[in-house]
Amino acid sequence: MKIGLIDVDGHRWPNLCLMKLSAYHKARGDTVEWHDGRKKYDLVYMSRVFTDSYSKDYTGNIRADQIMKGGTGYGMDNRLPDDVEHICPDYQLYPQFAGTAYGFLTRGCPRGCGFCIVGEKEGRRAVAVADLSEFWRGEKEIKLLDANLLACPDWEKLLLQLSESKAMVDFTQGLDVRLVTPEKVQLLNRVRTKMLHFAWDNPEDDLTGYFERFSELSNVKDYRKLRVYVLVNYGSSHEQDLYRIYTLRSMGYDPYVMIYEKATAPDITRKLQRWVNNKWFFHAVPDFEDFDPHYRKGRQGKEGEA
Ligand code: SF4
Repeated sequence: MKIGLIDVDGHRWPNLCLMKLSAYHKARGDTVEWHDGRKKYDLVYMSRVFTDSYSKDYTGNIRADQIMKGGTGYGMDNRLPDDVEHICPDYQLYPQFAGTAYGFLTRGCPRGCGFCIVGEKEGRRAVAVADLSEFWRGEKEIKLLDANLLACPDWEKLLLQLSESKAMVDFTQGLDVRLVTPEKVQLLNRVRTKMLHFAWDNPEDDLTGYFERFSELSNVKDYRKLRVYVLVNYGSSHEQDLYRIYTLRSMGYDPYVMIYEKATAPDITRKLQRWVNNKWFFHAVPDFEDFDPHYRKGRQGKEGEA
């Protein structure tokens, strides 16, 4: 069979489903390539992660006997069959990301945050779905897509696999600071990481004690390696946003503002994002009240600073 693949969202981040479909078809002896509108295919797969708010659907010409669409961008009820889901992805599909392994060790999350689709898509329990060897073949870097690995009862086995890989691990979806225990941090300390990500999304949750506990237990002391996503414009007041940002900074973390539905965000929230996420501003101007977004580096002899 001649298979064509369309990564509807573009190629800025590898599409794991397409990589698995490619590996599956190649193993069957099929010809697999990126879709070319001038060619005819037996089967074309279109994969789309993002919905209309974030990406546009593919509108080009497709000549194929069969077209199969999948991914969250096309709905919640499409899943890969088990034999495709558990195949080692075809990393050759994205040579620009060579040297990095991508995959899920777990699926699901028990939290059910209102703005998040994971519960509906993957379930309200975090369960182990793979061992690292399923998608890692000695690559120097591992990008994990797990929603909440620390909530999985098999966290110990999985963190051990990550630490023994000696690869640089990126927990791309972050770690749940509320689930940190001394045993978990002991293992996390053995995993090689460039940066750890956390989140403080709900201002009604006071996570101060959890972050303090992690700081005490963790080997990572450099704030630049301790990023915390702060969700704003999702029912929080400006004061609550500022509280989370100042508190995180005072505890030695690096806050990073994520705006929910940016189009509806008030000006002060956009200004806040600009201040926090531009690290030069954030450290040069300690108080948000003093932040002037029109200030330009260099105009006052500051050129060349970070
Ligand atoms: S903790 Fe994270 S993954 Fe889980 S529901 Fe909330 S936002 Fe989604």
